[in-house]
Amino acid sequence: MKIVVVGGGVAGLVTALSLHAAGMTPVVHESARELQALGVGINLLPHAVRELAELGLGDALDGIGLPPERLVYCDRRGRRIWEEPLGLTAGYRWPQYSVHRGKLQMMLLDAVRTRIGPDAVRTGMAFERFEHQETGVAAHFVDRRTGEPVVVEADVLVGADGIDSRLRAQLHPGEGAPRGNGVHMWRGMSRYPHILGGRAIVVAGGRPGGKFVAYPVEDPAVDGGPALMNWVLEIRRPEPGEGPDRSHRPVPTDEALAEASGWNLPWIDLPELIRNSTGIYEYPMVDRDPLPRWSFGRVTLVGDAAHPMYPMGMNGGSQSIVDARVLAWALAQHDDPVRALEWYENLRREPLNQLVLANRELGPEKIIAMAEESGGPVPAEHATAVSQGYKQLAGCTTAVLNSRDSWSVSPVSP
Ligand SMILES: Cc1cc2nc3c(=O)[nH]c(=O)nc-3n(C[C@H](O)[C@H](O)[C@H](O)COP(=O)(O)OP(=O)(O)OC[C@H]3O[C@@H](n4cnc5c(N)ncnc54)[C@H](O)[C@@H]3O)c2cc1C
Repeated sequence: MKIVVVGGGVAGLVTALSLHAAGMTPVVHESARELQALGVGINLLPHAVRELAELGLGDALDGIGLPPERLVYCDRRGRRIWEEPLGLTAGYRWPQYSVHRGKLQMMLLDAVRTRIGPDAVRTGMAFERFEHQETGVAAHFVDRRTGEPVVVEADVLVGADGIDSRLRAQLHPGEGAPRGNGVHMWRGMSRYPHILGGRAIVVAGGRPGGKFVAYPVEDPAVDGGPALMNWVLEIRRPEPGEGPDRSHRPVPTDEALAEASGWNLPWIDLPELIRNSTGIYEYPMVDRDPLPRWSFGRVTLVGDAAHPMYPMGMNGGSQSIVDARVLAWALAQHDDPVRALEWYENLRREPLNQLVLANRELGPEKIIAMAEESGGPVPAEHATAVSQGYKQLAGCTTAVLNSRDSWSVSPVSP
């Protein structure tokens, strides 16, 4: 079965690896002329790590990521509100990893080219539109090197083209731009000693637009220096249209220092963290409304194209990886790809839609808001209930993840 995947981000590359492992022939079409190691830190939760390990990428991931051991929530003054173990420390059979998104993408790209072939990712191919044919689908691209149109025929077309998905726009015309909440994230990477005992993901302040996050993505033991610390500082902007669009711009150090002056966290020297940063970039916090349908005949969506969500609870990239594996599994179970895509959607869409909505209500970070509202620590049973409830929604409690069947399949006949 020939499958065209649109987009060579994390979702698209893991989709290609999963389909190939199940005996199918995927080709990724990516609009960027060259895939580069872009982005800053991203977290892969144990449910995503399990999928990568079952694809044989466990050691490669261990070589580029750092397993955090604790999640620490603090109030705006840096006082601890809640702490819970992560990954192996929490009893999962798989670790969690904090990793540079670009390094993860390059690791996946390398695996795709090694396993599937050097031409398995075609860069510079910008998807335009598709049309269903009698027994397949025709995908229309523009070759950005020549400007020429290119038509590619396939048995199945998968949209992994991210939050601004062109494929999603064709399936759901009139949806419009992503939905912002007025919050922008300033993201940076900085050499900085471990904080709060090390191997911790720290979230302080909790409220959208008034939050600081930090976690290491590289261990000092690896290179002999301070940890490579990923950090995020949230700020509020006027609603889109009410001011200049500052999305994706580099943030000058002085501007970040001025914003950080409103914070006083006793366990980190924010000005030093900011001054040591290699670059600071502004990203809007955006998502999209849950969709009533992902699969249309031989066409479906995965990853951010299907369910972009606010970054609460560290699930965006992780759930994209699970999508890819479930899709390959469903296609391997059915001779009829149309039914397989329906099956995939039945397994994934509703829980993911709920997660998108839960993240609008702060996801597990609701614990910090609860502490703020009550003016003191949250009773442990209440915090546990929020944390566990969110994990249930995400399908990643220790009990579920450690015992559920694998999405691996024996390769299907070509
Ligand atoms: C440049 C970049 C940096 C990011 N940095 C971070 C980060 O630091 N931390 C974090 O948590 N998350 C980050 N993200 C988001 C994170 O990667 C995703 O939320 C998650 O991994 C799911 O990824 P995805 O593959 O569904 O979407 P994406 O990662 O957005 O990948 C989509 C891919 O599709 C390609 N594409 C888009 N339109 C077309 C088209 N018309 N034709 C062909 N290809 C197309 C894009 O170039 C991109 O490679 C970043 C995303 C991008 C694109």
